[in-house]
Amino acid sequence: MSFTSARLLLHFGLSLSTRDFGCFLSTPSHRKFSTTTAIPTAQKASEELLVVVGGGAAGVYGAIRAKTVAPRLNVLVIEKAKPLSKVKISGGGRCNVTNGHCTDSMILAENYPRGHKEFRGPFFDMHGPVDTMSWFTDHGVELKVEEDGRVFPVSNSSSSIIDCLMSEAEGRGVVMQTKKVVKTASANGGKFLLSIEKLTASSVDYIEADYLLIASGSSSQGYSLASQLGHSIVDPVPSLFTFKTTDSQLAELSGVTFPKVKAKLVLENVKRNIQQFTQVGPMLVTHWGLSGPAILRLSAWGARDLFSSGYKGMVTVDFIPDLHIEDVKSILSRHKHQFAGQFKDEFVKAGGVPLSEILLNTMESKIHSGLFFAGEVLNVDGVTGGFNFQNAWSGGYIAGTTIGTRVNDAHLTVLDLG
Ligand SMILES: Cc1cc2nc3c(=O)[nH]c(=O)nc-3n(C[C@H](O)[C@H](O)[C@H](O)COP(=O)(O)OP(=O)(O)OC[C@H]3O[C@@H](n4cnc5c(N)ncnc54)[C@H](O)[C@@H]3O)c2cc1C
Repeated sequence: MSFTSARLLLHFGLSLSTRDFGCFLSTPSHRKFSTTTAIPTAQKASEELLVVVGGGAAGVYGAIRAKTVAPRLNVLVIEKAKPLSKVKISGGGRCNVTNGHCTDSMILAENYPRGHKEFRGPFFDMHGPVDTMSWFTDHGVELKVEEDGRVFPVSNSSSSIIDCLMSEAEGRGVVMQTKKVVKTASANGGKFLLSIEKLTASSVDYIEADYLLIASGSSSQGYSLASQLGHSIVDPVPSLFTFKTTDSQLAELSGVTFPKVKAKLVLENVKRNIQQFTQVGPMLVTHWGLSGPAILRLSAWGARDLFSSGYKGMVTVDFIPDLHIEDVKSILSRHKHQFAGQFKDEFVKAGGVPLSEILLNTMESKIHSGLFFAGEVLNVDGVTGGFNFQNAWSGGYIAGTTIGTRVNDAHLTVLDLG
């Protein structure tokens, strides 16, 4: 392929299946709260119980933090599948834990298409990337910061992160129950009544929690629980995806990475000038179209407009924003195979519980005291580079700290009165 023009207009169409996020509300038979779901008696250090819905990054980190701050609190994590399964597959199996180049909270916030305004506040000051890195290194996971800021375990294996979190949770006395789904939730006199379905036995148990942390990721069941408790849900749409193009000129370039392009997203339904619709960075040509950080960032910033345009639009790619054409030819011949498949996608959802309905310095619901949210269940998503996990770690940590501190304060008040 000859490069007579370094600027290409690429039409793309995306075939993404968007899921149906209907609510399912079952009517619980008014059975006395089952003890089969309850935590083992040996763990019952106090009467107070925190139930965490979802054993993902936010849920497990939050559970550990709550139990660390208030060891007397009973902490039960309900996970419908395997705990930390997204951590396992993340970053191509290496787990891009956080980003080491964005230590300033204001700069960090700019990496969240949903959340950038709200995250300029105290959120990351309370637990940011440096705190996350310290937490993992203090707990025995050696980390490395790559040239582009992505942070990975030195082992290059997400298992290091999983093993660390699971062993810390177990050591602290967090109880984890898997193959169970929290199906319904209602607020009941300052407590939360939950129905929990056991997937292996198709039976339902009921449990009453003093504190509830919903950390259910982008699961429709989690959104359903939030709406049963009176929260609204911003319709979830995909974010962080690659663009499919039908441009035959690109076929020959499949597998080529361009270290620096300027890519501009043009959508018919968007007339205003959006600064983030132009991204500079690496781009990968795949056999189906375009990928790489510059494209993934466009997909994230354009997530809502792309959805409403039916995923039809144009990308203008300037292959030589600051290079001479001869340099481009030389890069192409040198790097054709070396970079193939370098970039892994992070697939997240834009949408969820609006940030306006929670307090970001505690992660508590503005509707119910004792109800908390953390992670992707919120209307937050970051661009590629470790920002999505950072949202999960920060939210889980802040929620866990708030719950643990409240339990301790209540205990001190009782002691004072006694
Ligand atoms: C392929 C892939 C790679 C990724 N790589 C990266 C990366 O390298 N770096 C990065 O920053 N981000 C990455 N991400 C994004 C990141 O994985 C998510 O942002 C992050 O996992 C969100 O954490 P969470 O705890 O909020 O949700 P999740 O990790 O999704 O955890 C939620 C958990 O809740 C459980 N659950 C849901 N509803 C219920 C219920 N009703 N009852 C019981 N359990 C329930 C689910 O089974 C799930 O285990 C990647 C995503 C994908 C899909």
